[in-house]
Amino acid sequence: MTFRAGWNFLMTPGPTNIPERVLRAMARPALEYAGPDFLELSVGVHEDLKEIFQTTAEVFIYAANGHGAWEAALSNTLSPGDTVLVPDTGQFSNSWSMMAESLGIKSQYMASDWRHGIDPEIVEQALRDDKDHKIKAVLMVHTDTATSITSDVPAVRKAIDAANHPALFMVDTIASLVTTPYRMDDWGVDVTIAACQKGLMVAPGISFTAANDKAREIGKSSTMPRNYWNWQTRRGAIHYSWYCGTGPVNSIFGIREAMDMIFEETLDGAQARHQRLAVAVRAAVAVWGSAGGFELNAKVEHQRANGVTTILIDEHINVADLHTLCRDRFNVSLGYGLGKLKGKSFRIGHMGHVNEPMVLGTLGSIEAAFTMLDIKHAKGGAQAAIESLARG
Ligand SMILES: *Cc1c(COP(=O)(O)O)cnc(C)c1O
Repeated sequence: MTFRAGWNFLMTPGPTNIPERVLRAMARPALEYAGPDFLELSVGVHEDLKEIFQTTAEVFIYAANGHGAWEAALSNTLSPGDTVLVPDTGQFSNSWSMMAESLGIKSQYMASDWRHGIDPEIVEQALRDDKDHKIKAVLMVHTDTATSITSDVPAVRKAIDAANHPALFMVDTIASLVTTPYRMDDWGVDVTIAACQKGLMVAPGISFTAANDKAREIGKSSTMPRNYWNWQTRRGAIHYSWYCGTGPVNSIFGIREAMDMIFEETLDGAQARHQRLAVAVRAAVAVWGSAGGFELNAKVEHQRANGVTTILIDEHINVADLHTLCRDRFNVSLGYGLGKLKGKSFRIGHMGHVNEPMVLGTLGSIEAAFTMLDIKHAKGGAQAAIESLARG
């Protein structure tokens, strides 16, 4: 492995920088899985996660990455042959849709240009056209990490209601939670999907679903084979069943500590910080691109994500060289373009345990890399970010 001095700035949109407090919390001996200490910790974590999701719905914790929570949401509510409506937001709506199809669910996928958020009108129309209610769920990605677009959850809820359609509303908040306001109950979401390694700042490996009464009730008659994911057998009288086996004790230590940090900062405070940093990143990109060569992928200002920025680049720019130089020389890790944006974009993650100097260091390093690689850009991007942050 290449020696790299200083801290690694893991500016990828997951996994993200893990705070020392969280690492230390995780570096403790495990507890008895059926003992009173783990029970108390676990009850508290399940309860406090509701605050993060802004819900009173039941929360389920999986020793799995986000894909696991996707499968949990699908397998607990749907049956083979059911149809789901999936508005395209980028690579992540695409992958979730393909997962549904692999489980025997039909996906009605509504393609987009990957540069705009979900259009609630086309959701409403598709649901109105579905006269015999074949569509059992609408699957929405709140912030699609590939496109760095955040779509409007209440607007999609309104579209479902306007069509007077009974479909469940499931929202992937893996990249939006903590970085962006999210209110599961107020916004009428039936199932929330989340994971621990993005805004939640915990070592990868844990994901969550929150499911309201409607979703859990419908789930009782779903015939999708499932065992590990099963909401009906988790959260019973025996704590062991909450995890379908041994609980991931050390990860739960990490989640406890990360939530304590979030509550100290407050959810509003964390969201405001993410927004401030995102605005600064975009100010830098605007300057770099003023001579051509770079452009924000998300076209609409208010749809630009708080936690990640996808930057489209000219074809002649070798994005692999940019990545390698930033990583090896500056110890800054950037995100690659995903799906159809592969090779045509790079991404700056600014979610989780990130502050102003980390963002400025990242932008300054990228700008230095542009010069070293002879990539045409307008100078002064980092300066624009400094000025943006100085405005507060
Ligand atoms: C990261 C991400 C996922 C996938 O999560 P994994 O933990 O890698 O399985 C899904 N959806 C969104 C929006 C993401 O950002």
